[in-house]
Amino acid sequence: MKKQDSSVWVIAEQIDCQVLAVSFQLIGQARKLATELGTSVEVVLLGDNISEQARQLIAAGADKVYLGNAPDLAFYQPEIYTEIIVKLAIERRPEIMLIGSTSTGTELAPLIAAGLKTGLTAHCIDLVLDENKLLISKIPAYGGLMSIICPEKRPQMATIATGVFTSPHPDESRTGEIVPLKVPDAIPGRIQTLKVVREETEGVSLESASIVVAGGAGAGDKEGWGMIADLAKALNAALGSTRPAVDEGWTELETMIGQSGKMVSPELYIGVGLSGELQHMVGVVGAKAMVAINNDAKSPVFEQVDYGIVDDCREFVPVLIEKIKEYREKLVTC
Ligand SMILES: Cc1cc2nc3c(=O)[nH]c(=O)nc-3n(C[C@H](O)[C@H](O)[C@H](O)COP(=O)(O)OP(=O)(O)OC[C@H]3O[C@@H](n4cnc5c(N)ncnc54)[C@H](O)[C@@H]3O)c2cc1C
Repeated sequence: MKKQDSSVWVIAEQIDCQVLAVSFQLIGQARKLATELGTSVEVVLLGDNISEQARQLIAAGADKVYLGNAPDLAFYQPEIYTEIIVKLAIERRPEIMLIGSTSTGTELAPLIAAGLKTGLTAHCIDLVLDENKLLISKIPAYGGLMSIICPEKRPQMATIATGVFTSPHPDESRTGEIVPLKVPDAIPGRIQTLKVVREETEGVSLESASIVVAGGAGAGDKEGWGMIADLAKALNAALGSTRPAVDEGWTELETMIGQSGKMVSPELYIGVGLSGELQHMVGVVGAKAMVAINNDAKSPVFEQVDYGIVDDCREFVPVLIEKIKEYREKLVTC
């Protein structure tokens, strides 16, 4: 692509007409980048009956919303979504394009990148500008953080997980432009989403939980894992895990937190029997307060948390659960 308008774009995502939290979080970060670049934030929103949602995006910080509003766009359709966004980007020439690293975003982003013949950095955990105003996308790799730039091709594209950035406070007084998009009459025939089947989740969902209890290899076995799951229940928390806990078959892949799993941003994170490896800890960068329970006082996890408890989790966790129950009973009788 040749020299462009240089705006910062966010491809927003909606499910059942609800804009996802990650889209608002990306608008907040896009706003910061756009201010540094002296440019505008523009958002693409595709769906059906979503005009009101376009207003929410402006309140969150968008200067312009490209709105594709049609029954054919109600759910994510890979080919038509790609076609609309690629065509628009070729016309408007954004400098940067940010997409949520959701299951839809993870598929859509490379389709758009291929259509625009540009680069894409996936699963970023930070986005900043360098001294030449190039986007530096940071990803966890080789036990540290790797910075990736896209010096020539445009737009500079990145996918970012939920919870990496915070959502801006909506400002209802903000004004912006809503640009209706022309939706192609017929969806190209190769792939069509016919219906969306929702996965049933048990208990509190990791992404929206205010408390997350994450267990690791230190659980020792299925029984030890059960204690960590009971702690999560006692606290009405979501249960997360590290990779070894998944590999051992103690829990499902959906509970894994980190580079290859989910990003969480609870008020309180409690890591039990885990060592604080970067690949896991990148998933909890958004946590407000952090506690670790580990029987090795020298474990690197203690350097990364606010409060550390050095003890055998198999002895400590059942006592903690009892104390939580006693405390709750006292609260009820007070
Ligand atoms: C490309 C790549 C991607 C990855 N992605 C992820 C990811 O998304 N998420 C993820 O979690 N991992 C991921 N991993 C794996 C990651 O590198 C670590 O191996 C993993 O996070 C370690 O899990 P752990 O802390 O449970 O286990 P360990 O590192 O084995 O730590 C176990 C800890 O438990 C403590 N312990 C042992 N017994 C007890 C006890 N009785 N009481 C209390 N503490 C005890 C030990 O002191 C130790 O600190 C990835 C790895 C790679 C290479």
